[in-house]
Amino acid sequence: MMDHEQALQLLPGYIDEELSLSESLDFERHLATCEECRRIYEQDRQVNAQLRQADLRMDAPPELVKRIKAALPGPPRSGNGCAIGSAGGPRAGRSVGHRLARWC
Ligand SMILES: [Zn+2]
Repeated sequence: MMDHEQALQLLPGYIDEELSLSESLDFERHLATCEECRRIYEQDRQVNAQLRQADLRMDAPPELVKRIKAALPGPPRSGNGCAIGSAGGPRAGRSVGHRLARWC
């Protein structure tokens, strides 16, 4: 008979359906007798289900998409290249944002 500690260790595997048949059965037997494990199991199962749903829906919030797009470099310019590395110089007091807007 599985004890409580063992059950807790197997719990994540049980939720992910990674346990062997005999381990699952032992776990379920413990679950039927242990209120604390049932509670933890229910919580983890819900979190797990939410994570899976989040995985399926890849929609990022529009605001985030905008920010990501803004942070990505624009189309590459041929020739002069981007002077980010050397743009600091004596004017290093300026913010990176200013430098990017000015030099790229
Ligand atoms: Zn238990």
